[in-house]
Amino acid sequence: MKRIALFPGSFDPFTKGHQDIVLRGLRLFDEVVIGIGRNASKQRYFPLDDMVRLIEWTFREHPNVRVLAYDDLTANVAREIGARFLLRGLRNTTDFEYENGISQVNRHVYEEVETVFLITSPPLAPISSSIIRDLHRYGQKVDEFLPYSLDLEKTH
Ligand code: ADP
Repeated sequence: MKRIALFPGSFDPFTKGHQDIVLRGLRLFDEVVIGIGRNASKQRYFPLDDMVRLIEWTFREHPNVRVLAYDDLTANVAREIGARFLLRGLRNTTDFEYENGISQVNRHVYEEVETVFLITSPPLAPISSSIIRDLHRYGQKVDEFLPYSLDLEKTH
């Protein structure tokens, strides 16, 4: 049976920290599905369609990585796509407190699902989507934190 992991997140934007989790996840799983949760109450900073395309471009040489935008409970999506694993990254104790709660909820919704946590690679630990949004909003270059160029034209 194929070992499929769902890596859920907002990915607003997808960073080198996220890329590292996916690449390391590929050593554990046959397929990693990057799930971008659509949250109606949360306005995105980077448009969803652009982010899907940029992530697909990032993993263009990895046929066992795909991107899925969803509007449902993460655990329900995992069940639907046959993923028995959720993949998450842990940077610090704040992440741990939050992840501890949601992993319990996910198992409440889908009993068989296991969340697998990978500790962030130290040089990537300070990278967060929210900091990147703040830098970008005020015109600071953020390319060094991203595995693609935000200049969409370059990815065609
Ligand atoms: P969410 O809104 O669900 O927290 P994010 O897009 O912020 O989604 O993050 C998705 C996952 O990636 C989370 O498990 C988060 O802890 C992890 N993550 C975020 N940044 C990094 C990083 N720099 N290194 C490793 N994991 C990270």
